[in-house]
Amino acid sequence: MRNIRVCALFRPLNEKEKSDHGDSVCITGVDSESFIIKDEKQEEIEFCFDRVFHQRSKQDDIYEFVALPIVRGVVNGVNGAIITYGQTGAGKTYTMEGPNLLDCEEKEKGLLPRVVDGIFDIVKRSDDMAKYIIKLSMVEIYMERVRDLFDLSKDHLQIKESREQGIFVSGVTECLSASADGEPKREAGGICLWPEIGISILAAIFVPGITISYAPTLDDTLFSIWNARIAGKSLIPVSDSAQALHCLSSGIANRAVGHTQMNMASSRSHCVYIFSIQQEMKEKRSGKLILVDLAGSEKADKTGAVGRVLEEAKTINKSLSALGNVINALTCASTIRGNHIPYRDSKLTRILQDALGGDTHTTLLCCCSPSPSNASETLSTLRFGSRAR
Ligand code: ADP
Ligand code: MG
Repeated sequence: MRNIRVCALFRPLNEKEKSDHGDSVCITGVDSESFIIKDEKQEEIEFCFDRVFHQRSKQDDIYEFVALPIVRGVVNGVNGAIITYGQTGAGKTYTMEGPNLLDCEEKEKGLLPRVVDGIFDIVKRSDDMAKYIIKLSMVEIYMERVRDLFDLSKDHLQIKESREQGIFVSGVTECLSASADGEPKREAGGICLWPEIGISILAAIFVPGITISYAPTLDDTLFSIWNARIAGKSLIPVSDSAQALHCLSSGIANRAVGHTQMNMASSRSHCVYIFSIQQEMKEKRSGKLILVDLAGSEKADKTGAVGRVLEEAKTINKSLSALGNVINALTCASTIRGNHIPYRDSKLTRILQDALGGDTHTTLLCCCSPSPSNASETLSTLRFGSRAR
């Protein structure tokens, strides 16, 4: 598998587009890897990508192609990233979350719930000896500020780097699930580890006759909690994918709450989901998967924006071009060694640093409207994608 893959994804026409232009679409000759679109001068250009998804593509197929290989890699210690790019309304959030994270038909489920299920599933079915710790955090980048979506009081988090953890968001709240024997860790020695972890551990230590069948994992869990205390962050224990999804859903709801207070639309910020999976067999391995639902890529000048809205738009354009520059530098770096990669040019690229480049798997999903009325934004999205290949 190539390190960076780029896919184009066309959502179905919406009602407004249908009433304006009937069934007409801006692309022709669509096959699984290419299609033709007319540029500003009405000249036909062909775009080729690793895969083209269109209105008849199923969410299931998108997951299998886009995410499953990355999920498998992450469980084995290879970092990865999945990024949705495109103008507001192009289908980025729908692709990530589906119509509703917790409540939708199986076939409509987006990448995020499938990734969560996929990770828990692989962990559950893995080698008996394997022990895993799954961590999940969720932040939003708005105007170059990183906000914890599991705890809105943490609204200006720093991105740091350490030898053991690589790049991390310092003090961020994490959902944590520790497992052994393929089963989520709810019990240790017959007593419930969560939620009264303190009491359970005391009981496990001081009450004779209680066998701690998962002592190594208990240690790991304790260790994680201890570390979290030192780092000043909070942990939310989860024991299965359903609970992890509930956490994510509350993060998404928090996003909306913050926005009404700040009078901001979700399309003006980047939403970042960070999964980290630590595995201990003979040696320690850890992998990180970052999913990013980017802010809308539409050009600011066209909207005639002024004041804060213009500032927002400029900040978004800057971070999106920083992302483009990093990806371009990486694609060149595969041929030219020693090339400087400008990760520090934005919070977005800094968070993504160790999930992009090197031995990682990245997929950029260019989300587009198929309508002729959006053709110029669609072209600019496709050009961004082409440059990344
Ligand atoms: P974005 O996040 O890029 O701004 P959304 O994901 O919110 O865009 O999509 C805009 C609208 O289009 C939403 O109402 C969404 O339900 C709908 N939509 C997007 N993609 C699809 C799809 N593949 N199938 C059906 N509806 C879609
Ligand atoms: Mg969105």
